[in-house]
Amino acid sequence: KLANVQQPIRLGAMTLPNRIIMGSMHVGLEKLPNGVERLADFYAERASGGAGLIVTGGAAVLPEGGMGEVYCNVFLDEHIEQLRIITEKVHQQKGKIALQLFHAGRYAYKEVTGLDPVAPSPLQAPINRTQPRELDEAGIERTIAAFASGAVRAQKAGFDAVEIMGSEGYLINQFLSPVTNQRQDEWGGDFGRRTRFGVEVAKRVREAVGRDFPVLFRMSGLDLIPDSTTIEETLQFARMLEEAGVDALNIGIGWHESKVPTISMMVPRGAYVWVAQQVKEAVHIPVIASNRINDIRHAEEILQAGRCDLVSLARPFLADPQIVAKSVQGRFDEVNTCIACNQACLDHIFDGKVASCLVNPMVGREVEWALAQATVRKKVAVVGAGPAGLEAARVLAERGHEVVLFEKQERIGGQLNYARQVPGKAEFNETLRYYQTQLVKLGVEVRLGTEASADELVREGFAEVVIATGVVPRRPEIAGQEMPHVVMYNEVFEHKVKVASKVVIVGAGGIACDLSHLLVHDEVISPEAAEYLLAYRILDAKALHKLQTGKRKVFMLRRGKHVGTGLGKTTRWATLAYLKQNGVEMLTEIEYKRIAEEGVYITRNGEEQVIPADTVIIAAGATPNDALYHALAGRIPVHLIGGAKEAGELDAKRAILEGAQVGRAI
Ligand code: SF4
Repeated sequence: KLANVQQPIRLGAMTLPNRIIMGSMHVGLEKLPNGVERLADFYAERASGGAGLIVTGGAAVLPEGGMGEVYCNVFLDEHIEQLRIITEKVHQQKGKIALQLFHAGRYAYKEVTGLDPVAPSPLQAPINRTQPRELDEAGIERTIAAFASGAVRAQKAGFDAVEIMGSEGYLINQFLSPVTNQRQDEWGGDFGRRTRFGVEVAKRVREAVGRDFPVLFRMSGLDLIPDSTTIEETLQFARMLEEAGVDALNIGIGWHESKVPTISMMVPRGAYVWVAQQVKEAVHIPVIASNRINDIRHAEEILQAGRCDLVSLARPFLADPQIVAKSVQGRFDEVNTCIACNQACLDHIFDGKVASCLVNPMVGREVEWALAQATVRKKVAVVGAGPAGLEAARVLAERGHEVVLFEKQERIGGQLNYARQVPGKAEFNETLRYYQTQLVKLGVEVRLGTEASADELVREGFAEVVIATGVVPRRPEIAGQEMPHVVMYNEVFEHKVKVASKVVIVGAGGIACDLSHLLVHDEVISPEAAEYLLAYRILDAKALHKLQTGKRKVFMLRRGKHVGTGLGKTTRWATLAYLKQNGVEMLTEIEYKRIAEEGVYITRNGEEQVIPADTVIIAAGATPNDALYHALAGRIPVHLIGGAKEAGELDAKRAILEGAQVGRAI
């Protein structure tokens, strides 16, 4: 029962049918041909899936505050017609949608806007190459007016509400924080003057849209920046916004430049709800909690405990547009859960690409990938139940084919079974649960503990075969590698060998990082994170110490220059920081000499040294396991996907994508 989730709520004159908001995300569809139509389809599908309210990605209120042409904009009247395409499609699905009014301030990239970024003070952001220009009095007035006129355009375009973006370190947040606002005029200095810009924006937007039109304000509940706004000031600011006439406060956590993980898989679920709860206790308007909430049952618990009034989920709506509808119908096991990996959403956006989703590659291809029933029903074998094979089997069965899935291990999952053991990566269990449920629901015949052979597949009369047999770990040529204390990475993940306390890992890519993580500890806490977790009472000192005490001494060795290759941009820094903090030593640009009983002999900077080890683990990449493909070629139409096609780092994103593609091609 989701009684609290399904409780309608009023925001201004608008009544939402439930308490789940799809939070603002930039997905980059605008840059594709027919981008706005695609974006409209993207939102419409989430509306049909039961989101109570959708908040769009940020729409720039001024060109210098935007992210370039590929973002939605709302600073010209001609933008209204474009935006109306979105509202009409969402309304056809009986959904409600708010436009987010956005100004990046010093985070705006001159490289894309072609304009100097502006800010309260001329202080360059650590994540931007350009120093911003300080806004003068007239510039401030023009910017406030732009938020108000953007809100009016949103109204004219048919939006049901607006959300003012005042968190994440963007312009309004920059005015509020003493770190970024060092003015000594009426817009900076003491706390009262630093609040003036945000409060003025809220007031002017309210005046512009009238009393009844819902105005949400996304405020920063916790900047996670040293010496920034205090909790007391944050609560005071929340009360000021309430007075200024906003209808709800949506609580953001962290700035883009903060060094504390806020949404990655390593952050425990719901870790920041306490921030929204504090704000809720300070005001009388509805408060929205967010960050690492990916299960509607969890949202129900949070609401039932009275910790907030609404819950905002963003990425979970990428992973499964139907998350609310399925949950309301009690079909929790059918939800494709966001695993907070960031690999296909945020990592894509930071690389300037269109967002997709690792567990749901249909994101951004809603129309062209809509599943069509197969014209001829075929008997199809899928060999290998790792992520590529699982997705292929799911899509093929969904399209009406008769599917048999072969797996030589006794369980499905392939290398997902490695990843899910890594501390902080338990969310991969959800992906396995999702596929398990789908295979049963779709009637896929699963043959576990069965190694398929070419002759048998031909004999059984399969019309087509998909080979998703994964990889074979690669053994580099190092003298001494046949010694008994030298093991392969897969043997460690499969618990076939014991690992001693002094470990050398040959390799320093994504798999080696995962292994190190598994071997040294349970949770991820960087020094900066530790400071905040203590300061804000997320963990007590004892719990923190337990997490910080390493069990083993681990060295990662690499011939090349870089460690952690294959990890995503948005998570690599935190993973490496955690490993270093736990004493994992990473030696790069080395030459292997030999492995001996006492350790691994290497040369580094021209000097020979021995790295002591009781266990040496080889994690030096892999080669495709494609023998079955070659044995079948020419006998049956056969398709090669995932690691069996191209071995690399553990790449569940590519594996699932290729499974989805082949599932549509047969
Ligand atoms: Fe969630 Fe990963 Fe998909 Fe992003 S790519 S929505 S984090 S599962």
